[in-house]
Amino acid sequence: MVTVPVIRRRHIVNIVQVATSLEQVEEFLKTLLLILWITVPSVLVVASLGGLFLANKALKPVDEITKTARMITSRSLNQRIKLRKTKDEIGRLTETFNDMISRLGQSFNQIRQFSADASHELRTPLTILKGEIEVGLRRKRYPEEYRKILNSNLEEVNHMSQIVDDLLFLSKADMGEIHLQKHRINLTELVSEVYAQAKMIATTKDIKVHMSNDVDGVVIGDRLKLRELLLNLVDNGVKYTPEGGEMRISLERGDSRFKLRVMDNGIGIAPEDQPHIFDRFFRVDKARSREAGGSGLGLNICKWIVAAHGGEISVDSEIGKGSIFTVTLPLAPSPWGDDQK
Ligand code: ADP
Repeated sequence: MVTVPVIRRRHIVNIVQVATSLEQVEEFLKTLLLILWITVPSVLVVASLGGLFLANKALKPVDEITKTARMITSRSLNQRIKLRKTKDEIGRLTETFNDMISRLGQSFNQIRQFSADASHELRTPLTILKGEIEVGLRRKRYPEEYRKILNSNLEEVNHMSQIVDDLLFLSKADMGEIHLQKHRINLTELVSEVYAQAKMIATTKDIKVHMSNDVDGVVIGDRLKLRELLLNLVDNGVKYTPEGGEMRISLERGDSRFKLRVMDNGIGIAPEDQPHIFDRFFRVDKARSREAGGSGLGLNICKWIVAAHGGEISVDSEIGKGSIFTVTLPLAPSPWGDDQK
């Protein structure tokens, strides 16, 4: 420490100056710098390696998902990614991915089944057609015989073209390519129209058709499709009711829905078959349905039409007593904004 006397305006002022050696501080800073030079890179290396390890561990399942996704083809849709026990994002992603594969698997199976059934369905009339033509050509025949063979050929061709039309409709429906022309439809009028047609169809088997249709009803729908739905049900009623039987078409009105019923006192459907009759190509008795010109697609088309109108279709049937097919359809909202009165 040094004390320096200073004269300021004739007074002597003492100023104290303090000094110390910086050697120790410089030494400390040097050591600190050295420590930093060593520790910072080592910490960085350790952190990077740790990060890499953790990232690898975390991304391994993603890698597995990628590998599995690459291996999956339409023939190997039974593969699944191993599920992790954790319920984190990756666990959920794996679960979602597995669900997606199983849905795809189901769709592919349905398509395969559909193609197999469709080919099978077309093969029967084609075999009959081929057989009839071959027999017809085996020797010279009278014009009357040729006429008989050609009539039978025409029946098979009509059957095939009905199947092709139905298949085309269903595949378009599956692809969402059927666009309904929805308008306000007077259901009462439509039912009366179908009733008139039902009476005509039923005369071939001497079946009596009745109608209960004393409600006023309007629905929003596609007139042609709703007509097709009712005619399909009527057609089935006629097909599966013995000669001299009876049928009834009725229209009732509930609070928010119409109930359309097509009833017959025909052969009926066994309880174990009832849940399947709306499935594609399902027929209780294949031979009987074929003989009557059926292909097992009619009720599936009915189900699609009803669903496309926001309704439901169901069956209530008893073997030997008959069947009741019930279609419910939502009432159209009143054009004035309040409910239909
Ligand atoms: P199909 O062209 O064979 O009639 P559908 O899809 O219309 O095909 O009907 C499926 C099956 O349901 C029929 O093959 C028949 O076994 C049964 N079925 C449908 N409607 C009736 C009915 N009204 N009475 C008895 N069985 C019926």
